[in-house]
Amino acid sequence: MKEIRTRFAPSPTGFMHIGNLRTALYAYLFAKKNGGKFVLRIEDTDRERLVENAVETIYNTLKLAGLQHDEGPDAGGLFGPYVQSERREIYYKYAQQLIESGNAYYCFCSKERLETLTDESGNRRYDKHCLHLSREEINRNLAAGIPYVIRQNVPIEGSSTFNDLVFGEITVDNRELHDNVLIKSDGYPTYNFANIVDDHLMQISHVLRGMEYLSSTPNYNLLYNAFGWDIPEYIHLPHIMRDKQHKLSKRYGDANFEDFLEKGFLPEAIINYVALLGWNPKNDREKFTLSELVDAFDIAGISKSAAVFDEIKLRWLNSQYIQEMSLEEFEKRADAYYENLPSEVDRSLLSRLLQPRIAVFSDILEKLTFITGFDGYDIALLEDKNSKTTLGMAITVLPEVIKLSENVLVWENEALFEAYNSLTETLGIKRKQLLWIVRISLTGQASTPCGATEACVLLGRKESVRRLQYSLQKCLENYVK
Ligand code: GLU
Repeated sequence: MKEIRTRFAPSPTGFMHIGNLRTALYAYLFAKKNGGKFVLRIEDTDRERLVENAVETIYNTLKLAGLQHDEGPDAGGLFGPYVQSERREIYYKYAQQLIESGNAYYCFCSKERLETLTDESGNRRYDKHCLHLSREEINRNLAAGIPYVIRQNVPIEGSSTFNDLVFGEITVDNRELHDNVLIKSDGYPTYNFANIVDDHLMQISHVLRGMEYLSSTPNYNLLYNAFGWDIPEYIHLPHIMRDKQHKLSKRYGDANFEDFLEKGFLPEAIINYVALLGWNPKNDREKFTLSELVDAFDIAGISKSAAVFDEIKLRWLNSQYIQEMSLEEFEKRADAYYENLPSEVDRSLLSRLLQPRIAVFSDILEKLTFITGFDGYDIALLEDKNSKTTLGMAITVLPEVIKLSENVLVWENEALFEAYNSLTETLGIKRKQLLWIVRISLTGQASTPCGATEACVLLGRKESVRRLQYSLQKCLENYVK
């Protein structure tokens, strides 16, 4: 049996669209599932859109995502170069072959002329004007250095049929097809040409790409036929949408892999979630490692309809990954978010408290505002219906808590808990009430990722006493008899 070879062929744009990441993932999964090869090819023939370091972004993304390619510019292989700008002579040579066989032609039409050409429905359509130039005219134009492109000569009659492994059999009227440009006036090939030359020469058996390429696939098949080459199997993938009407967009921070990394999602959770966008494992399972995906992947599970990206679901999946990681791993990844904390804050206690309480790492920032962003509190929080605390009670309790806090021997969670607990007996109030007063005084927040005594430990004795004193002063200022 022929070896399964898939490719990921990104254009270096500087970021990785979620749709492209999914294409890469499915191409990887399909190759690996079938013991085949996954090839990386850089499609950089649109010279106007080149972005510096964009190729690095592609390598880094694949690495972070765990999608190790077997061949590519940085990995070598028998079918290189794997960067299209380094293959110009190859495309040019094949374009010449098409000209000789009548399947392509030189076109010298000016931009101005092209702009006047529309078909009955008002769509821009080339009228094959230059197809009819004589050999002499062509040679004269070439010798005079008139800029030209090379166009595909598509038949104007009949229809083209092909099979897609997701969308099934598709038939298109040849009249709908355009005489696509194959080589541009700058000498670079278009995607419409380079993709077929490379997929053939790189022996790609299965082409996976977004469904936006479905409509030009008949053009590609005509080119394969013109060369007498085998047509690869096609697996076109449905769109990924934000909702029924809207595509993912940079503006909403949901278009690119990088957007989600920045929001604190884990690469493995993103990959897991992206795998499920348009592919159904045919059971209820939602959590897969990459190697489990390789085992489970089957193109029969790819859907034709658009997938909707649900960030809430991704958050849930991410929280599962966070909860399952070791504390060391958690701390390593959380470290970047601890940057603004005072050095005395106990990172490991904090990690232990945060791990079960966050869905993405960036949630940490919000959870730490009681340490990093404390600027007093709303006095009304002390009047709590639930624990039945009052300002008057706080005024009685706080001086005792301050005294105890200044004198307690060990500043640790259990010791503090014991100490405060015995204070409740002396003062004749409930533990819940005392802890509420302490918590609000220390954090200014009704909901924190830790209990009152843990907040004491995290803040340290000095800062805790300072905040308790501040709280007492606020209570006195606001207390109306
Ligand atoms: N360079 C094309 C893109 O980034 C690749 C399409 C394909 O996979 O053939 O959209």
